[in-house]
Amino acid sequence: MARDLSPSDVHALAGAYALDALTELERAAFGRHVADCESCTVEVAELSETATRLAAPGARLRTVSVDGGQVTLVTSASQDAAVAVLSGLPAPGKDKAYQLWFIKPGEYRSMAVLPAGERTATVRIGPVGDAALFGVSLERTGGSASGKPTDVRGTVDLR
Ligand SMILES: [Zn+2]
Repeated sequence: MARDLSPSDVHALAGAYALDALTELERAAFGRHVADCESCTVEVAELSETATRLAAPGARLRTVSVDGGQVTLVTSASQDAAVAVLSGLPAPGKDKAYQLWFIKPGEYRSMAVLPAGERTATVRIGPVGDAALFGVSLERTGGSASGKPTDVRGTVDLR
C-alpha cells in the first residue's frame, strides 16, 4: 500500500533516507523536500556520517513494519553498535513513550526511551552483544518501571 506522503511524513523520512532504506517513491518525495528543509539537511548529513561509520564489513540493515510505520536497524558487528530509525509510527498517546530494547531469553536491556509522544527518532545504541532481538515497546512516560517491555509493538530478529 502506498504511503500517504503528507509533509510531516516526508519530514520523518530523513533517517531512513540517510540509511538508504526508502522506497523509490519515498526517496523521490524526500529528495524534493530536503532541498528546502534545513533541519532535514542537517539530520541527513549527521546520519550519513553515522551510517558510513557503521558501514564496515559485517554491517547489516534490517527493516520491519510496525503499526503502519517502519523500524530500521543497522547493526555493525565490528563496532558492536547499531542505529535504530523509527519513522511513521503512530503517536504513542498521552503520557506514553516508545522504548528500545535488546532482548535475549531472560534478559532485557533498555537502550533508549524516547520523549513522551515522540514517534520519529534516530538513535545510536549499543552494545549489541549477543542479543537475539531488537524490540520497540510502548511504555508510560520515562519507560517501563519493571525493567521489561510492557507492550511490544515490533521486533527485529538479529540472528
Ligand atoms: Zn524536513
